[in-house]
Amino acid sequence: MTSVNDEAQLAGLDNFRNLQADQQPTWPDAKKLADTVDLLGKVAPLVIPQETETLTQRLAAAGRGEAFLLQGGDCAETFAEAHADRIRNKMRTILQMAVVLTHGASMPIVKMGRMAGQYAKPRSSAEETRDGVTLPVYRGDMVNEFAFTEQARTPNPDRLFQGYSIAAATANIVRAFTTGGYADLRQVHEWNKGFMENPAYKRYESTAVEIDRAIRFMDACGADFDQLRTVEFFVSHEALLLDYERAMVRMNPISGTPYDSSGHFLWIGERTRKIDGAHVDFLSRVSNPIGVKLGPTTSPDDALRLQEKLNPEGVEGRLTFITRMGTANIRTVLPNIVEKIHREGSPVTWVTDPMHGNTITSATGYKTRRFDDVLDEVRGFFEVHSAVGSVPGGLHVELTGDDVTEVLGGSEEISDEGLAKRYETLVDPRLNHQQSLEMAFQVAEMLQEFRSNR
Ligand code: PEP
Ligand code: MN
Repeated sequence: MTSVNDEAQLAGLDNFRNLQADQQPTWPDAKKLADTVDLLGKVAPLVIPQETETLTQRLAAAGRGEAFLLQGGDCAETFAEAHADRIRNKMRTILQMAVVLTHGASMPIVKMGRMAGQYAKPRSSAEETRDGVTLPVYRGDMVNEFAFTEQARTPNPDRLFQGYSIAAATANIVRAFTTGGYADLRQVHEWNKGFMENPAYKRYESTAVEIDRAIRFMDACGADFDQLRTVEFFVSHEALLLDYERAMVRMNPISGTPYDSSGHFLWIGERTRKIDGAHVDFLSRVSNPIGVKLGPTTSPDDALRLQEKLNPEGVEGRLTFITRMGTANIRTVLPNIVEKIHREGSPVTWVTDPMHGNTITSATGYKTRRFDDVLDEVRGFFEVHSAVGSVPGGLHVELTGDDVTEVLGGSEEISDEGLAKRYETLVDPRLNHQQSLEMAFQVAEMLQEFRSNR
């Protein structure tokens, strides 16, 4: 029998080691890293290849305009918050949003968490200085700790294994929530009715009433609600730490091709998408559906070259471009990119991340985003695809199921001063539960409008 490593040689999986790998921690203990990686090479996979193939089909449908992706979760998951309450609140938020979007889109919503592995972050600087003391920057719980001490900030390979274990427990509870009755459509609908009781959300009432009527209609027709007790849910994260991702590669015994078993969907961040860099090379060799973030400096040629390298055979659903232009750039920068790919490229699934191009520092010194900017980028995304004749295939958001105060605005109007009340993120600001639902109602309207104009 060929071992994974012999096969890996064949597949060139380690070629990335000869290339520039940005955003990697400097692990001080090489022996410990090697031992951890060795161990991770032998553990059970977090996902199986059949699931990744199903997801490729779902994303292909989203690319054709027959489904819509909702991908959401924390900027950075933390080990401390990987407990049932936080995970349940996040799942609940995503499921509630999905019901509203299903109605708006009249299409299946592909549900995916930035969850069960989103523990490593690209940073703008390798170090952080406070009061004259310089230490390695916090790179996410899978690398080091947030506390500003030398011990906490030293990258520790034990955290890679801890990350694997916590991802496994998270994926397990996610599966329980999505198959054990918690995701029952009628229950999710009841939660949405609870949300609508707040007068702040009056403007969404007509949509909420329509959804209510649709559910009663289904009931009256004798719809099998038992089938709607279970939902399909996928997990995803940024494939940043190449030692970890490489160690999680397994062979698909049926096709004989390698896949990355750390999550269903993996994406390459804006800072690591260089065409001849290590991340692009590595992900070009695993069979999962993958994504690439495209920021405002992306040229149409950059996008085309990424597509040729990451999806040379033009498999539908294999490649998703997650655009994060910022509300100021979306209407000027995105059209040329979409036109070029639409004209010269193979199929791609277009998703908007309206968070990362709209980050600002508030007057009170918090890293934040304006709810209105976020929604305006989504609107711009729909306008551009409408004009080009391409398909807006999904929405990628940083959110939490809790009542944090990290993003400015929304109908409950979180103000500059209000940010301090419950600002908990260690990295980027997330929409809270209410803001997330409000976004879903507005995006549902955009989807409806888009469809009626086609
Ligand atoms: C992120 O998704 O948290 C992130 C860092 O995004 P980007 O790579 O688009 O900057
Ligand atoms: Mn982020």
